[in-house]
Amino acid sequence: MTAAKPLRILVTGGAGFIGSALVRHLVRETPHEVLNLDKLTYAGNLASLEPIANSPRYRFLQGDICDGATVAQALADFRPDVITHLAAESHVDRSIDGPADFIQTNIVGTFAMLNAALDYWRGLDEAAKAEFRFHHISTDEVFGTLADDGFFTEETPYDPHSPYSASKASSDHLVRAWHDTYGLPVLITNCSNNYGPYHFPEKLIPLMVIKALAGEPLPVYGEGLNVRDWLFVEDHARALTAVFERGVPGESYIIGGRAERKNIEVVTRICETLDQIRPRADGTSYKTLITHVTDRPGHDHRYAIDPTKIERELGWTAQESFDSGIARTIAWYLDNEAWWRPLVEEKGAVQRIGLKG
Ligand code: NAD
Repeated sequence: MTAAKPLRILVTGGAGFIGSALVRHLVRETPHEVLNLDKLTYAGNLASLEPIANSPRYRFLQGDICDGATVAQALADFRPDVITHLAAESHVDRSIDGPADFIQTNIVGTFAMLNAALDYWRGLDEAAKAEFRFHHISTDEVFGTLADDGFFTEETPYDPHSPYSASKASSDHLVRAWHDTYGLPVLITNCSNNYGPYHFPEKLIPLMVIKALAGEPLPVYGEGLNVRDWLFVEDHARALTAVFERGVPGESYIIGGRAERKNIEVVTRICETLDQIRPRADGTSYKTLITHVTDRPGHDHRYAIDPTKIERELGWTAQESFDSGIARTIAWYLDNEAWWRPLVEEKGAVQRIGLKG
C-alpha cells in the first residue's frame, strides 16, 4: 500500500474525540474516502465533523458495532480497503460506575466487528485480500502502571487494572487471535492520553479549562502526582494513518508524544496560561481554584511510552510539544464555547463520577 493511493476507509467511532480528528485529517490531508459508522452515544458528536461534513469523500452511517447485520451491510455497501476501529466506551471513571457498557461495546462489539470483517475479507479477490487491513485502536492502559522510571514498549506484558483497561485488553487479544487463527491482516496501536480540540468536557484538560472559566474549584485527584504521557490528537491522527498505510500486518505499534507530565503540572500550566490570556477580574490566579479530592480507586501511578518503533519503522514523530499543544488546546476552548457549552448544559459533562470501587 502506498500513501498516494486513495483508499476506502471505514472508521468506527468517527464522531468521538480521536475518531473525528482522524476523519478530519483523512478528508483534509489525504485522498482517502471515509465512511464513519457511529452509534452516537453521549460521546459521539456530529458537530465535531462539521468542518468536513460536506465533502464528497465523507459519509456518515448511524449504527451499533455490536449489531453484526448492520456492520455486514456497511461492509457490503462501502467495500472498504481498511477498517480503523475506534468505537468504544472510553472514560475510565464511567467504567468504575457502570462496567456493563464497556464489556458490551469494547469486547462484544470488537468481536462483532472481527466476525463481519473476516466474512467480508474472505470474499475479496487475492489482491484486495493482501491489501486489506483491520486496524484496532487501543490504549497504553492495557499495560498497567509504571514506577517512576521505565517505559511501555510493544513487548510490555498486559496488566490492566480498571474495567475500561481490562475491556480494551480483551479486545486487543481478540484482534490478535483473529490474525493468528484466521490470518486476518490486523494492526494494533496502543496510545497514551490524547488531548486537543473537540475533547469531551469530562476529560481532565477540557474539564479544568471549563471549570476555571466558570470560577469553580479545580478537582485534582489525590496529590496530583499521577503521571500521564500526553499526545496531541492531530499527531495521533497522523500516526494512525502511517500505521494503516505502511504498518506490517500482525504487528502492534505504541504511540506517544514524549510528553510526560504529572497531573498537577498539567492543571498548573492551564491556570498559568489562562492567567495570561484570560486574566480573572479580581486579579487572582486561577491556581487558587485548585482543590485536592479523593483519588480514583485503583488509580495507575504512571504511564509513559517509548515510541521508538513507530518513529524508526514508519517515520512518524509527534510534531506538537506539550507546551505548544496545550496552548493551542486552551485557545480552541476559548474560541469554541458554542461547541462545548451544550455538552456541559445538556449532558452534565463536568460532574464528578467514578468513586465506586
Ligand atoms: P470517545 O468516547 O470520544 O468516542 C467514542 C465514539 O464511539 C463515540 O463517537 C461513540 O458514539 C462511539 N461508539 C460508542 N459505542 C458505540 C457502538 N456500540 N457502536 C458504534 N459507535 C459507538 O473516545 P475517544 O477518546 O475518541 O477514543 C477512541 C478510541 O481510542 C477508543 O477505542 C479508546 O479506547 C482509544 N483510546 C483513547 C485514548 C484517549 O486519550 N482518548 C487513549 C488511548 C486509547
